[in-house]
Amino acid sequence: MKAYSFCPVCGTMLERGMIDGRERQLCLSCSWVHYINPLPAAIAYTVNRNEELLVVRRAHEPACNEWSLPGGFIEAGEKAEEGCLRELMEETSLEGKIDALIGIYPRQVEPYGSLLVLAYRVVVDDDAITINHELSDAGFYQEHLIPEVRIPLHQEIMRDAALYEPVQ
Ligand SMILES: [Zn+2]
Repeated sequence: MKAYSFCPVCGTMLERGMIDGRERQLCLSCSWVHYINPLPAAIAYTVNRNEELLVVRRAHEPACNEWSLPGGFIEAGEKAEEGCLRELMEETSLEGKIDALIGIYPRQVEPYGSLLVLAYRVVVDDDAITINHELSDAGFYQEHLIPEVRIPLHQEIMRDAALYEPVQ
């Protein structure tokens, strides 16, 4: 995330100062402080009834052409679980059910800055996929056939998800 140069409220040049134990940008004219909070996102670790894992190939930056788990940003007013299932539906047309929270992961990701990623285990009954423009490929794979997922966060989620017993 790019730093502000000027106060977004009154246009005065920002200064730096220690506030609540951290160095932050602040406006000496109107007292606006640039608090940097993470943007919440949700990842759907999605399995079908055969315990095959859904991986998708991204068609856009960041991580264009990389295999990954589906997911995206949570909208204002939306529950994290709803955002997770909505992103899955938008990208793949799959209707999932939340099974478990796998973990919560703070990350710095360009170009977004600070993220807080909630990873859910999601189960689908009907695994027929229709991908949208965000993806170039998607499929359910048995564990030994999963295409290589190279995004470190997604690798970590896949490792953590392996700790969960399937709830069916
Ligand atoms: Zn100001």
